[in-house]
Amino acid sequence: MNRPGKVICVGRNYADHAKELGNDVPKEPLIFLKPQSSVIWNGDAILLPPQSNRVEHEGEIGVVIGRTVRRISADEAQATIESIVAANDVTARDLQKTDSQWTRCKGFDTFCPLGEPGAVPADLSTLTVVTRVNGVEKQRATGADMVFSIPVLISYVSHIMTIEPGDIILTGTPAGIGIISDGDEVEVEIVGVSRVKNPVKTL
Ligand code: MG
Repeated sequence: MNRPGKVICVGRNYADHAKELGNDVPKEPLIFLKPQSSVIWNGDAILLPPQSNRVEHEGEIGVVIGRTVRRISADEAQATIESIVAANDVTARDLQKTDSQWTRCKGFDTFCPLGEPGAVPADLSTLTVVTRVNGVEKQRATGADMVFSIPVLISYVSHIMTIEPGDIILTGTPAGIGIISDGDEVEVEIVGVSRVKNPVKTL
């Protein structure tokens, strides 16, 4: 798989995760971007930068868009999905709290591990994301737990920016986020679809 042109992310899209960080569930999707340069693949190391003392995993369902998409309805959205990938929206949580926007805390090199593309199920709400650190399960949720569904997210983003072939939408993380440290191994699995496992090292 090639690196996506852009990685569009959704914040606070699971009510239990918004709550664990003390945030309200947003009334409309909260979106931000991760740079292309943050993308790594299965087996590559997540590098902990010296600017942060608290880097955390965020296992997420990644949606790869297969064609040029602009101003489409949610009903039209599922047909634009090319594949599903396991994704980790790695975040420097301490910097997220001190910065007024998230370019730095979400944008470090290696902060966007992506798995190999897998098949798109007929019912997107059945997708299940599981995150494990050193083999211990930390996060688990399904598409049915999202505040805004995948088709709604694609439609929403498409009314802001053109989504180009290969672009990826990371659809938010459920509760259970936690710190990752040098020597850990973090894995995100979309059950039966895609997985990405990465060692964690100090930069
Ligand atoms: Mg996230």
